[in-house]
Amino acid sequence: MQVWKFGGTSVGKPERMHSIRELLLTDPSRKIVVLSALSGSTNALIAIGEAAKANEDASAAKQIGDLKAHYDAFIKELYSTEAGLAKGQEIIDNEFGFIRSLVGIKPFASKQEKEIVAEGELLSTQLFQGYLEEVGDSSVLLPALEFMRIDADNEPELEKIEEKLTSILAQHPDKQTIVTQGFICRNPREEVDNLKRGGSDYTASLIGGAIRAEEIQIWTDIDGMHNNDPRIVKRTFPIRELTFEEAAELAYFGAKILHPSTITPAKLRGVPVRLKNTMQPEAPGTLIANQSSDREIKAIAAKDNITAIYIHSTRMLNAYGFLRRVFEIFEKYKTPVDMITTSEVSVSVTIDNSEHLESITAELREFADLEENDSDQNIICIVGNFSADKEGIALKVLDAMKNIPIRMISYGASEHNLSLLIHSKYKAEALNVLNERLFYYEDAMKGIFTAP
Ligand code: ADP
Ligand code: ASP
Ligand code: MG
Repeated sequence: MQVWKFGGTSVGKPERMHSIRELLLTDPSRKIVVLSALSGSTNALIAIGEAAKANEDASAAKQIGDLKAHYDAFIKELYSTEAGLAKGQEIIDNEFGFIRSLVGIKPFASKQEKEIVAEGELLSTQLFQGYLEEVGDSSVLLPALEFMRIDADNEPELEKIEEKLTSILAQHPDKQTIVTQGFICRNPREEVDNLKRGGSDYTASLIGGAIRAEEIQIWTDIDGMHNNDPRIVKRTFPIRELTFEEAAELAYFGAKILHPSTITPAKLRGVPVRLKNTMQPEAPGTLIANQSSDREIKAIAAKDNITAIYIHSTRMLNAYGFLRRVFEIFEKYKTPVDMITTSEVSVSVTIDNSEHLESITAELREFADLEENDSDQNIICIVGNFSADKEGIALKVLDAMKNIPIRMISYGASEHNLSLLIHSKYKAEALNVLNERLFYYEDAMKGIFTAP
């Protein structure tokens, strides 16, 4: 069995849903199809929730009306029969009736907000599976809320997902296409919750890992993982092969094509992940597996909204136990640290979740001196195969960055990652100069200007 996930743009127009069906027909294997919300819907639903929270009920009602009109028009192009259209209209009327009832609940809590946001995937999957039914394709809709679980720390529970999903799947042995929602899940309080923005990729990988699928395919609007952020850098190209480790670093450090945690379940269960372009299905895309080609420097990514904290020990030298005390505080506030650099009496760390920053710094001050934090920083992450015996990689990177102030450098913890901390105002410049130096310079020297 395979798992195919289609993102917001891939389901965002009725004709795109028609193309997905065509794509499914080109491959005979049985599939679980994970869908995102139609592009723009999650943002619109979040805005509706925010209006409701601010008690701006008229604004919420207007936004609900506008979004519903979009869906009313969508189904007119999606379905071609009276029966199909009537079914589609019933789905829309039901879901929008539910959204209106949620907005009316006062005080409006985060529980209702999450239920509203979940509507994007609930709508897209019902409408798409309704279309498969209309054209007579063998299919069934599996509600993700029946098997996708997270724990009290918001971490997905792979074993539970496996257990529940396996027994649900056993009830549909003869269905060719099993449609389900990306992104949404239930938390330990049995409430509707989600895997955070972009979470449908993570759903696909969790399902693929849980059922030990042959392959997980992530279908999106670009021909695979590029060597750099195509929204910011002029010349980028798709990478044919990546290892799980390389892809995980890129996703975690900002390559938006994948949710940061996507690779973890696939890697754990050894299921290959293929990134494909819905608009260009013949393009090879990117294969993520145990092995990859041995190109030294594979790609660059950037992670935004980073805060750096600079901590100095107030005790004398050799203060062992200092690092432990520092990290216990981050652990207490469940705040992951991304980069660390140390000297004998100081340690600098970066975090991207500054929700508990004030409490963390207050507790650190009990035994350490703190310099003023730097907010609005950016981690530039260079990913590749940097085995210990490879020389010259840091030189190339630092040569490219010679005109950009670097606040921190981290190299050597993994064989796949060299990270630099810079102010976010230099992000675009850093990505572009690194791109030219790391991917085009040697070719330019040889008089070859084509991408590797
Ligand atoms: P989907 O809605 O299908 O999940 P996303 O918008 O989340 O799609 O992700 C695809 C987008 O990610 C691309 O259109 C591209 O602009 C962006 N992106 C950022 N970095 C990269 C990268 N390194 N390689 C490919 N795409 C990237
Ligand atoms: N619809 C959700 C979002 O926009 C999940 C996803 O698209 O992956 O974040
Ligand atoms: Mg996405």
